[in-house]
Amino acid sequence: MEISPSNNSCAYGQPGIFRGYLRFDNPCLADYSWPLCEIRGRRPGPRLCVSAGVHVNEVSSIEAAVRLQRLIDPETIVGSVSIIPLINQPAFYKYTQLVCPIDGRNINFTFPGNRHGTFSEALCDSVMNEWCEGADCYVDMHGGDLREKVSKFSMFQHTPNAELDALGRRMAMCFDAEIVMGLPAADMEHPGRPPTGFARYNRLALMSEAGANGLLDEGSISFHVEGVLNIARTLGIIEGSVTPFLNARIPCDKYLWLESPADGEFHAEAEPGDRVAKGQRLGTVSDLFGQTLAEVRAPRAGFFLWRMTHPTIPKGSPIGAIAVEEKQAG
Ligand SMILES: [Zn+2]
Repeated sequence: MEISPSNNSCAYGQPGIFRGYLRFDNPCLADYSWPLCEIRGRRPGPRLCVSAGVHVNEVSSIEAAVRLQRLIDPETIVGSVSIIPLINQPAFYKYTQLVCPIDGRNINFTFPGNRHGTFSEALCDSVMNEWCEGADCYVDMHGGDLREKVSKFSMFQHTPNAELDALGRRMAMCFDAEIVMGLPAADMEHPGRPPTGFARYNRLALMSEAGANGLLDEGSISFHVEGVLNIARTLGIIEGSVTPFLNARIPCDKYLWLESPADGEFHAEAEPGDRVAKGQRLGTVSDLFGQTLAEVRAPRAGFFLWRMTHPTIPKGSPIGAIAVEEKQAG
């Protein structure tokens, strides 16, 4: 990495607050630089990396990455917190939904990436192996692109590594979430989200989701901010105990995508965060004459995790997702 400080910054790697830009070593990424804020205490300790803006319209999470920079005091912390508030730089000011405009790939499903691959693959590799090298934990914040609304949830990766599995759950529980999603271990067979890509190398990454429709929303912003601060407390970077939780933090372990059964206008009858019964109608799809073409029903009992808010959806495209509660022991 090549790191250049801004005027109001301490030297990189020194105690204090670094503000500046980084360039990754991979030549595929040479045209871009990334804003970086790194807060470092006087005593060495754990390293936490935090990012947002893989999806550039998920603005509550980007705002959380900005606010966090001013909420962590280098005089009182141990170790460091490193923040990149906007990962998908090629989409900045383009408002591109879900993908990176250079290669059309969704960065969020490309981890662990590939050093010799496309721009998004190279970026995932560099995030993981340059910026997050040696990090104890990586948190990537998301929540509600321009046409989506998500419940408040966090994600970790279930893995055969029992110690990492337990640590992932413990850190995901640091968010005051409605749902805590443990992604199924089978996800590790393919490129995936940061928790999945990191777990393949026995490393810890988490995701938080809250927000909707390109709107700044204080409840969503504070969900991300407080969750990350709680992770920093749990890692021992910040002193003090975690803040109280108001939401149920229901552990779920199946993430079921719902596709639109017909071309048309989706009218939802449930909202993200709602508990739904198996077979419950979640909405209908109608045509431009107002005639109902199809019903969308919950394939399993669980929770409505997120849904599209823009009604116009082609057949076979995602309409939302259901989280299935994990089976209780015994
Ligand atoms: Zn996202």
